[in-house]
Amino acid sequence: MNSENTLPFNESPNPYNPDDYDKVDARLKRQAKQDRRLNLLKINLLRKQDGICPICGVIIDLNSEQVERDHIIPRKLGGADTFKNTALVHKTCHDKKTAFDRKRIASNKRLGLDPSK
Ligand SMILES: [Zn+2]
Repeated sequence: MNSENTLPFNESPNPYNPDDYDKVDARLKRQAKQDRRLNLLKINLLRKQDGICPICGVIIDLNSEQVERDHIIPRKLGGADTFKNTALVHKTCHDKKTAFDRKRIASNKRLGLDPSK
């Protein structure tokens, strides 16, 4: 077989293979670390906003609601990827804001304006 037409096979660690236990453990530890950082970010954002969704003004309940991280000034409108420009919002609120932001960006483009203004 011509090796130019084949893809390299990167076998992922098998959690049922004792030879792969170390690799699986390392992967799970990395995932747990990422989850902890994300939870810490959510908690810090909630503290910054007094537990309230800045879009609808209703208290956010992390245990029972889907929440997302929002760039207050969207990245496409020149907003920075910083803690200051970040808020925790309800998923439904985020969807509405994203739709509004997209319309604004499209409108600016149609008018020949800089999308970030
Ligand atoms: Zn909300």
